[in-house]
Order: sequence, then C-alpha cells, then structure tokens
Amino acid sequence: MRLYSLGSGSSGNGFIVENAQAAVLLDCGIAARACQSALRELGLVERLGAVVISHEHTDHIRSVAAVLRKRDCHIVTTAGTYRSLRHDAPWFPHQAGDRFTESGIEVTFVGVSHDAAEPCGFVIDADGTRVAIFTDLGYVSEEVLDAVSSADIIVLESNFDTTMLKRGGYPAHLKRRIQSPVGHLSNDDCASALVAAVNARTRGIWLAHLSHNNNTPELAVNTASDALRLAGFGIPVQALPRYERVEITRLPARQLMFGM
Ligand SMILES: [Zn+2]
Ligand SMILES: [Zn+2]
Repeated sequence: MRLYSLGSGSSGNGFIVENAQAAVLLDCGIAARACQSALRELGLVERLGAVVISHEHTDHIRSVAAVLRKRDCHIVTTAGTYRSLRHDAPWFPHQAGDRFTESGIEVTFVGVSHDAAEPCGFVIDADGTRVAIFTDLGYVSEEVLDAVSSADIIVLESNFDTTMLKRGGYPAHLKRRIQSPVGHLSNDDCASALVAAVNARTRGIWLAHLSHNNNTPELAVNTASDALRLAGFGIPVQALPRYERVEITRLPARQLMFGM
C-alpha cells in the first residue's frame, strides 16, 4: 500500500491510501483542483472507491462535493459527521470501533475528543502495513494511544507550541478552545504520547496539522525528537508539509536502519 498526505494544517487536510485494487480518500479539505490533480497524477481517478471523513470542520471537507461529483463514490463517516455535512451523496454509516473495508484497504474508526459532532481518527491496514492517523484531538485517550502503539507508521497532530500560543495574537476564547480537551494537541502533548506509544513496531513518525501561527516545523520536530531521544528512542521524526504532497509510507533508508 501507499499512503500520501496531500496537505496538512488548518489550510486543508487530505490523505490518499491506495493498493493494487482501490484508492480511498481520507478527508478532503485541500482545494478541489489540488485534490483532482493529485488523483490524476497518481493514476487513481478510476480506482477511487470512497471518501472517508474524520469530522465536519472545513479544513477536512472543503472539496468533498467537488470530488464526489460525477463519480461513483460514496462517503464513509459517522452519523454525526454526515448530518453536519448536509450532503446528499450515498453514505455508509460508521461509528467509533467500526471497520470499513474497500478492496483490501481496511479503515478502523477510533473516536477522538474534538469540538465536532462525532469526530474520529483512523487506523489503516493494507498489504500488511498499519498506519495510525490522528489529527484534531484535544487529548490522547487510552484508545487512541493503543491505536497509535499498534501502528508501523504514526501520523499524529502536533498543533501548537504552548509559549507561541500564549504570546500570540489570538483572542482569549480561541486560545482557550485550542488548549481545551476538545481542541488540539500541543507539541508537548504529542511528544508525551509518542514516548508512551513508540515501540519495536514503530518505523516512522510524521507530525501533522501544525499551526501556521503558533508553531514551526522545527519546534514541533525538535520537541518530539528530544523527548524520544531522552526516553532512549532514536527514531527520526518528520513534519508533514502544509501544501506539498508526500508519501507517508516511503521512509528514508536511514529511518529503516535506525528504526526501533
Ligand atoms: Zn483540522
Ligand atoms: Zn477540527
């Protein structure tokens, strides 16, 4: 299987997972044109079978309507998210704990705490590889930690640096919302979760959904790497770019060599 990030952050999120038979979009919050051209360039236009949605915030659903138009494709999400979408596309209802399968690509829904109707993160299984994807969560629950621990590759939110958020220009209510248990994970929250989750199975770590105003890729990566190194884990950490497409399942050779 191959899994790509099409963009990560409040400007738009999206992942594509493919195997030999099918492709599935996970969130569709990047610009419609960028999403369509990614599908074309990767040769997945014909193979796209489903659009799986984590929650209804605009940065995750912006282009759902455009992508589904003229396609024999359905939405897979929770009842709460589907209702919030106000979309009339064919829908496969799922809830936390459910597993959806599309031609050998398995997506398990894991509930998260976030200020949306019924938000979920995902565990993706295909061709013997497991990837955990968790962005937009206020804290890491036991369930999320279990899911992250079981993955070969971890994609975890590292949204904000606490000092930058405190000193930044956001209004007080927004600062409170971001830091609340239904907001986003800070760099420190993310680092602690990684230290608790990483084990002999972990081959790669990608930090996701970095704030444009309250974080930098360097701060996020250093916070996670330093905490992991201190705990005795030498596994390298990378940040997902805001706009460019990257293949999450392609890890640098050194990562495989020095992985746990
Ligand atoms: Zn988001
Ligand atoms: Zn959100």
